[in-house]
Amino acid sequence: MILITGGAGYIGSHTVINLLNNNYEVVIFDNLSTGHIETVNMLKSIGDIKFEQGDLFNIKDLENLFSKYDIEAVIHFAAFSLVEESCINPQKYYINNVIGTLNLLNTMLKYNVKKIVFSSTCATYGVPKTLPIDENHPQNPINPYGNTKLTVEGILKDYDKAYELKSIILRYFNVAGCDHLTRIGEWHIPETHLIPNILKSVTEKDKVFKIFGTDYDTKDGTCIRDYVNVEDLAEAHRLAFEYLNKKNKSDIFNIGTEKGNTVKEIFDICKKITNTNIKVEETQRRAGDPPILYANAKKAKEILGWTPKKTLYDSIKTAFEWQRKLTD
Ligand code: UDP
Repeated sequence: MILITGGAGYIGSHTVINLLNNNYEVVIFDNLSTGHIETVNMLKSIGDIKFEQGDLFNIKDLENLFSKYDIEAVIHFAAFSLVEESCINPQKYYINNVIGTLNLLNTMLKYNVKKIVFSSTCATYGVPKTLPIDENHPQNPINPYGNTKLTVEGILKDYDKAYELKSIILRYFNVAGCDHLTRIGEWHIPETHLIPNILKSVTEKDKVFKIFGTDYDTKDGTCIRDYVNVEDLAEAHRLAFEYLNKKNKSDIFNIGTEKGNTVKEIFDICKKITNTNIKVEETQRRAGDPPILYANAKKAKEILGWTPKKTLYDSIKTAFEWQRKLTD
């Protein structure tokens, strides 16, 4: 059985569907602080999943989980992931992302579970020195969120050396879209991400989309990001787990499309797909945002056999269908 922490959240829940489609047994562990019980219920209607509501800070919850199920590996999503919030409240991020993960790792060791796929991020690279960013690019995060993920990467390296706990670290770039059948999707409260925020300005009356910063050193002055489809990202997690199972070897992979798009380009695609003249306001930069991030993901292609299959257009189309469903 594979343990999915944060399986009620956006990326975790899509990974659960991928694993179910590939006949894996999964148990979700989630405190529902940002994930949704409706998502869990939908997953339950899709396949035979187990769900345990619990907290990474409650060692008893973790012990119950590991003693109840025969867990062979962990895919660890549970974390806070908002760059700006992490700048305002770093304590929340260090406690949750670092201490919570340490509790998980220590319980894994206690129960002799020695395989983990870990959600890391391109935010660990900071402001890129070279583009596209490959896995050997220096890591100098410019926000606390990136620092917490880099800290866990360091812990994983040390735990491998000392305890032979093997990890695949996936450093992903931005994520977009949803399940192609729109059963689940991106559902953050409050929503801070670019694509859902643009689309909410279509589905919610009076919501004006704000561009954070138009004075970056990019072709149109807005930030460039690499948007990978969430179903493609889910597939990367399955392939990473299978690689880990087969090779029992730690490794690190970037997961991205290798293409960068500016905020304004994303906005224009959203206008086209929604056929709406979306209201927009140009405002100042948001704290913690690097100007340009896009991946060199050749290593994931060569070693994991992972290739992104969906286009940005696919992602925005499903994201729009999902937004409409959310506001219905
Ligand atoms: N962004 C924006 N308006 C929004 C949300 C985001 O202009 O309402 C910009 C943000 O400043 C960044 C990019 O869109 O340059 C992607 O932000 P998002 O929060 O989606 O992901 P992040 O890169 O922070 O993980």
